[in-house]
Amino acid sequence: MKFGTKAIHAGQEPDPTTGAVMTPIYQTSTYWQASPGKHQGYAYARGKNPTRSALEKCLAELEGTRYGLCFSSGMGATDAVVKLLRPGDEVITGDDLYGGTYRMFTKVFEPFGLKFHFVDMKDPAVIRKHVNSKTKLIWLETPTNPTMQIIDIEACAKIAKEFKLILAVDNTFASPFLQNPTNLGADIVMHSVTKYISGHSDVIMGALCVNDEKLYTDLAFIHNSCGATPGPMDSFLVLRGVKTLHIRMERHCFNGRKVAEFLKTHPKIDKLYWPGFPDHPNHDIAKKQMKDFGGMISFSLKGNSQEEAFRIASSFKVFTLAESLGGVESLVNHPATMTHASIPKAERERAGIVDSMLRLSVGIEDIDDLLIDLKQALA
Ligand SMILES: *Cc1c(COP(=O)(O)O)cnc(C)c1O
Repeated sequence: MKFGTKAIHAGQEPDPTTGAVMTPIYQTSTYWQASPGKHQGYAYARGKNPTRSALEKCLAELEGTRYGLCFSSGMGATDAVVKLLRPGDEVITGDDLYGGTYRMFTKVFEPFGLKFHFVDMKDPAVIRKHVNSKTKLIWLETPTNPTMQIIDIEACAKIAKEFKLILAVDNTFASPFLQNPTNLGADIVMHSVTKYISGHSDVIMGALCVNDEKLYTDLAFIHNSCGATPGPMDSFLVLRGVKTLHIRMERHCFNGRKVAEFLKTHPKIDKLYWPGFPDHPNHDIAKKQMKDFGGMISFSLKGNSQEEAFRIASSFKVFTLAESLGGVESLVNHPATMTHASIPKAERERAGIVDSMLRLSVGIEDIDDLLIDLKQALA
């Protein structure tokens, strides 16, 4: 089956007890047992819930993996991956990470004796240089947030195989529609389901998708033991949202391209970050590993004035000034003071996140209205 058919049907057979076409919201914490330990596959809902199981199957199919696990947030999913490690282990990761991931790595896990190397992952040789006998995990994000760098997943997978490391890819920005990291050799795909997969800005959720049975068993153990599992209502909302992922993504990509083309020639724009332009540093890799280039675009202003960026951010009529991304509605965000405020200024600026940078999550509204809005806000 192809992507759109899977998005609508995978894991979602009519309910066996009633024939309900939509997977019911199994709002229960516990399940009847005929005799101690004799149940129908469900004992306690932290471990398993049928609504969540349906979604986990669907997401696994969309990523092309054998197993899926849903978490109560994207951070909950990332947390479970790091808990595969032990004190003294080392991780190689990017220098342009989601701010919350950077915060978790440095503030939560470094004190537990893990070491993180934040490196420029655009060059696989830099990654290779940081591998030593303690390295256990490569964690990458592509496209990165907010500077839309493209990391070569296949090249990283080669290094991971050579040194027997786990390669985990945060696939949130691309969504499973545009990119499937396990097909390129990654071991774990992580999603903030909150974003494109859910698509309607009404749920916080995360997911992990894997092929290896041992890895799945270890992650499922952490999932149940540590308990960052989502409830059935949220699982239902995401099952509803994911059914239109393929058509939403097509429109995000179409609108994204039009907005990027408009900004490219705008006199106020200094740098523009979008992987669809042939002059983007890793455009060829983006073309190789992604189906299209998505609706995430960042730019900075000539003169680099934060005041000017604030003025623009506050004068949109269709774009909403808010954190997050990937919903049907267009959003604008000021990374330096909003999504990336937890990253020290010097490190932020090294990654190109300057004070005048704005990040757009281009939604699926009518493109004419989005372009009119951009024109007036930038005027
Ligand atoms: C939002 C986001 C996360 C965190 O996910 P939550 O669902 O907010 O916990 C991780 N990575 C990326 C790239 C994100 O955009």
